[in-house]
Amino acid sequence: MLRKAIVATLALSAACAPDSQAPVKVQALVLNSNGAYAPREVELTTISDIVKMEGVVAKMIGGARIRSDSQDPQVQNAQTPEAYAKAIIKGDGRDVTASYITQDGVLWPADFHTWNLVTAYYNFERAYDYFNKVANIPAADLGEPATVYYFPEFTLVDTSPDALKDNALYFSPVQAFMVLPFDTLQKAPLALNAGVMSHEYAHRIFNQKVYAGSPFPYQIAVWGQSPSSPGANLIKSLDEGLADYHGFGTTCDSPVGCDTRFFRTSFDDRLSDSRDLAKADRCMDTVLLNDLNTLNVGAFDPYKLGSIIASALYQAGQSTGQHKTLQRALVAAYSDETSGNPGLAQLSRIAQNDQLIFNRTSVSAVLVNHITDTPLKTAVCNELIDHLQIPAAELVGPGLPCPPEAQGGTTCARINP
Ligand SMILES: [Zn+2]
Repeated sequence: MLRKAIVATLALSAACAPDSQAPVKVQALVLNSNGAYAPREVELTTISDIVKMEGVVAKMIGGARIRSDSQDPQVQNAQTPEAYAKAIIKGDGRDVTASYITQDGVLWPADFHTWNLVTAYYNFERAYDYFNKVANIPAADLGEPATVYYFPEFTLVDTSPDALKDNALYFSPVQAFMVLPFDTLQKAPLALNAGVMSHEYAHRIFNQKVYAGSPFPYQIAVWGQSPSSPGANLIKSLDEGLADYHGFGTTCDSPVGCDTRFFRTSFDDRLSDSRDLAKADRCMDTVLLNDLNTLNVGAFDPYKLGSIIASALYQAGQSTGQHKTLQRALVAAYSDETSGNPGLAQLSRIAQNDQLIFNRTSVSAVLVNHITDTPLKTAVCNELIDHLQIPAAELVGPGLPCPPEAQGGTTCARINP
């Protein structure tokens, strides 16, 4: 696929200095209905420098070196998040240089990295657009252009002496995205995968709103100091599950349409199945509930609970035909200072000294209280009561958030809560 695209560019006319004024017409690698990433003309509407790949949405930085090592004296001496970020960024990196060939007013990437960079920027722009237009976050609140470390050398020394590969992530300690080099990944590079990149972008939004932009949110750093950290375990799962649901949401505006299994073009079947939002029978079980309540955040797997949350929300949006309304309501629930209607940020503040207050019931109440449409509210209540195994009496009744007609579902066998 890539070779064909690159050969195609060689046959085109000679290179000239590209026009940087947005919107810029450029070829990117976009998933088509045959399941292949193929060149497609797109418009970058926020780019200000098409060579350095920077604009309103993101700024790409090449060749950075980031090394987190608890034995590093600079890291040990760091007293503030800023000092920590400085201590682990061992090489700042530099501007990237994309190169193009122009044909009929359209820029064609002239090398592999330019294809990858342009497509990554395009995917960030899709995610930005989704959070701006679907989730209704004003552009001013979406913040400064996101720093994206492109193919950095990123090492978490306490985990492995080798630099990480084959991943894309949002790393809150440096408040930046990383698109890591690939090594053994046999499928589509993550930068090309619009759903995966939106999943990562959703972590930035969650960090900005629920964690108030903190590099080390207390919901993880402080709650996670307890041997059992149910609040930290739940909020991490919520972050992952919501990121999957928003990743799905972004795919709905792509040429191939809504894709519940967007991981499949980059990952194996096992992972893709475990994250497929359309899988309707994921349930909280006694083992997972026990893990949630007793494990430390360092040992708890947030993806299992996250995918239960994601598919429960998906079912509610799907059965009512109201995905976009639900996606907007969920983001509205991230942070809300309205008295009597706390968001997740405010609920965690209430729970700051007692993380048990941040639990399945209180979190569900916050989400449901931000939905106005009664059928949608009822559907979300039913799915959460059913799949998260919340006793219906905790959410349904006088003064409680769920409408009387919500009594849960029958997909999951009830366990003793
Ligand atoms: Zn994630």
